[in-house]
Amino acid sequence: MVIRMRFSPRPGRLFVRVLLIALLPASALLAQAPIDSALTVYIAAIRAIDSHAHPMRPIRAGAPADTDFDALSLDGLAPFGFQHRLTLDDPIWRRAQNALYQTDAWHATTDSAYRAALAVTVARAVAERGDQFPAWALDQAGIDIMLANRVAMGPGLDAPRFRWVSFVDALMLPLDTRAEAAATPDTRALYPKEATLLKRYLLDLHVARLPSTLDGYVRAVVIPTLERHRAGGAVAVKFEAAYLRPLDFDDPEPAIARRVYARYVAGGVPTHAEYKRLEDYLFRVIVREAGRVGMAVQIHTLESFGAFYRTAGAAPHLLEPALNDSTLRGTKFVLVHGGWPLVSETQALLAKPNVYTDISAMDLILSPTVLAGVLRQWLGEFPDKVLFGTDAFETDAAQGWEQAAWVASTTARNALAIALTEMMRDGEIGRDRAQALARMVLRENAIAVYGLKDR
Ligand SMILES: [Zn+2]
Repeated sequence: MVIRMRFSPRPGRLFVRVLLIALLPASALLAQAPIDSALTVYIAAIRAIDSHAHPMRPIRAGAPADTDFDALSLDGLAPFGFQHRLTLDDPIWRRAQNALYQTDAWHATTDSAYRAALAVTVARAVAERGDQFPAWALDQAGIDIMLANRVAMGPGLDAPRFRWVSFVDALMLPLDTRAEAAATPDTRALYPKEATLLKRYLLDLHVARLPSTLDGYVRAVVIPTLERHRAGGAVAVKFEAAYLRPLDFDDPEPAIARRVYARYVAGGVPTHAEYKRLEDYLFRVIVREAGRVGMAVQIHTLESFGAFYRTAGAAPHLLEPALNDSTLRGTKFVLVHGGWPLVSETQALLAKPNVYTDISAMDLILSPTVLAGVLRQWLGEFPDKVLFGTDAFETDAAQGWEQAAWVASTTARNALAIALTEMMRDGEIGRDRAQALARMVLRENAIAVYGLKDR
């Protein structure tokens, strides 16, 4: 493994100063009870571990675009609404752009002039920094390690700053998915992407055709793919199943799953009931085997995204039968995006010994005040189960993943400062405990869940 440059693992003083300015607008201090300033300084200096994000490989001029940033990229879906804070209409993005690219100095007169200048500036920054751009982006956001949820890693996304989280939904879908895809216009666009990814996994293993039995498929494809990902540095696998189907994974008779596989592996389209049994069976196999080789399992639980996304199917409580499966207790589950807005469902599941959650995407979507309320609720019960994450993803050149990482990191720290200040003020915790909780959420809980070495 090549580490191309030595970075100071501590965020620079500049980051702390920029963050403090972002966290402590004077008007806010006058308008409401102040956030504890010493705690704010302490939180700003913590080197965070990002549980979930989609960083991009820095692309050289003329090279093909990076398409490995997600197994289910959302292009091809009908238009749908984004939460306001994810859009460029929200002023948080101008603040991120100024923090990263000093855009306030431009005095751009029109929006289009500003956006054109920003695109040029970002392209120049990527070109100049090259493979160092991603690590530079982490430094700007005070992030030490980012878990990169990608189909494959690549130049610029090296360990130890970046760790891989691979995609595994495709392994649940070895048969013809045409009937499953027909459910909604979204699923019609998304299922073929899983079929393409499974082909890639088979190619990686040099498996020319699917084995004729389910046990053969598990032995020759599922387990070797998970082992390959682990050997390639993956610390977790990710299910995006909520984009495709509800998260109600049952525990079918293995004989039924075997029959469905054997009947359709050479051709034909399973009924929905048949396919669900096979998927549910394979879900448990994948989870169990991921844990056996030392990987956590991340599951997308969020209100979004898509034009025909089934919000009710993404409810955290649907996972309870799987989370209560005693044969899966050797695997750590991370409910990514906190199940937002069903955060109380998530909270109830955190009592199970192997269940965790992260605030990725929540710190993009929610204001610091709203996120502080959720954190206070969770930290009061299960402080060792809550992880920081960003879900930093790239929208376009004017809204790159590096900006999203900055927005999420700044929002999360601000929210933590608000929640912990309130808890201190109400006499629930002292300053030492507040600092410990901040370290746990931003860093230490992730080290425990993903088996990272503290550096
Ligand atoms: Zn994500």
